[in-house]
Amino acid sequence: CGVVAIHGHPDAARQAYLALYALQHRGQESAGIATADYKNLSNIKGMGLVADIFTDDVLAKLPGEMAIGHTRYSTTGDSALLNAQPIRVDSTKGLIAIAHNGNLVNLGNIRTRLERDGAFFQTTSDSEIIVQLIAHSHAGTLVDAIADSLSQVDGAFSIVMMTRDRIFAARDPRGFRPLSMGRIVNPDGPDTIVFASETCAFDLLRAKWERDVKPGELVMVTQDGVTSRQYSTGVPQTSCIFEHVYFARPDSRIFGRWVQESRDQMGRQLARESGVPADLIVPVPDSGVTAALGYSAESGIPFNFGLIRNHYVGRTFIEPEQRVRDFGVKLKLNPVRNLLEGKRIILIDDSIIRGTTSRKIVRMVRQAGAKEVHLRISCPPTISPCFYGVDTPRKKELIAANNSVEEIRRYIEADTLAYLSLDGLEQACHGVENNHYCTACYTGIYPTQWVDVEDILPAAV
Ligand code: SF4
Ligand code: MG
Repeated sequence: CGVVAIHGHPDAARQAYLALYALQHRGQESAGIATADYKNLSNIKGMGLVADIFTDDVLAKLPGEMAIGHTRYSTTGDSALLNAQPIRVDSTKGLIAIAHNGNLVNLGNIRTRLERDGAFFQTTSDSEIIVQLIAHSHAGTLVDAIADSLSQVDGAFSIVMMTRDRIFAARDPRGFRPLSMGRIVNPDGPDTIVFASETCAFDLLRAKWERDVKPGELVMVTQDGVTSRQYSTGVPQTSCIFEHVYFARPDSRIFGRWVQESRDQMGRQLARESGVPADLIVPVPDSGVTAALGYSAESGIPFNFGLIRNHYVGRTFIEPEQRVRDFGVKLKLNPVRNLLEGKRIILIDDSIIRGTTSRKIVRMVRQAGAKEVHLRISCPPTISPCFYGVDTPRKKELIAANNSVEEIRRYIEADTLAYLSLDGLEQACHGVENNHYCTACYTGIYPTQWVDVEDILPAAV
């Protein structure tokens, strides 16, 4: 999912809209914007793409100088309008709206306890737990209630919240998901403060990146300015390395590091680790492009777009149903026969999840006349599901959880197949920032205590 917050702009709704437009790649199922004008809190949500939901007429119904927004792809809870965000809850502490990227993991009895205390849940989404915890907190002030609630939940959350007169932004103590703070300098008035999942959203708003919200930090923005507190300390950082592999846009800087740079390094390292003689490097667009450029630069083998993507088809992985995804692959990609014919091709993609897409693409390239098809993947084999906000399928559907690299190679019918090593990936995302990452989908070692054990046991397939 993608989240955004705007404070102190005469047309906050439109700013949120533009930011969500730039974050559309993080979720395409539903989107929503809530605004506040010190008196009321308006909220409009819809299914589908940001630009289709928020026409001028709709934006005109969202007055106020503050806004939060969300673009969703479902991980927990049903994929329905009911679970679209922002979620708005009316409580003894007033109206609160929340937009959440990530997944909470220790929900077990919190929900039951809250319901016993009289909480009435409007959604089946895990995100509502946070607002209900705030609503039922005994802390004296709202900011104490928020800090108190955030320390009771575990898992991944980059969240923005809004009341009638304030904006809050927070990240979980491990900093799984990105969240940055930026500023639009207004020469004749207070600055506009913005928060967004990725910095690519700032460019469209002409906001300057100021800093990242720190893991375990809660930032509050009021008319008096920005204040912050560290509600949790001492937990080691485990930011999601898959953001660098696939999820984030290359023009974003997340966890203090340009995604473009990480992917370029992944490609270069992949070329060093598992080079093979070939005539042409072909990326699987769009997710394989930047790594393929790195691979080409390092190996000296020319790069070209041998597969053309139809840009009117969304991200295939993010479609929740396998049926839609299968159809999507054919709709989405088409080979450029004159580039591929008679050539030895190295295909570069970011990941193999189920293997179905990769199999179709290898076949497509071969049918277009390629003499050899070598597949290189810019991360290690995905052997374990994510519980922190990326919708990887259950373990039994992950091809690498149940098959060796050689078995996968045979299944996808490639001449050779190689993955980037875990060390190589970590180095590529390390840089001078000295980041520490979650790599659980490649190792099965999860940084939080609670995970769905059923799901990580070896699959009986
Ligand atoms: Fe990211 Fe994988 Fe960790 Fe999930 S399990 S947070 S996708 S690195
Ligand atoms: Mg892809």
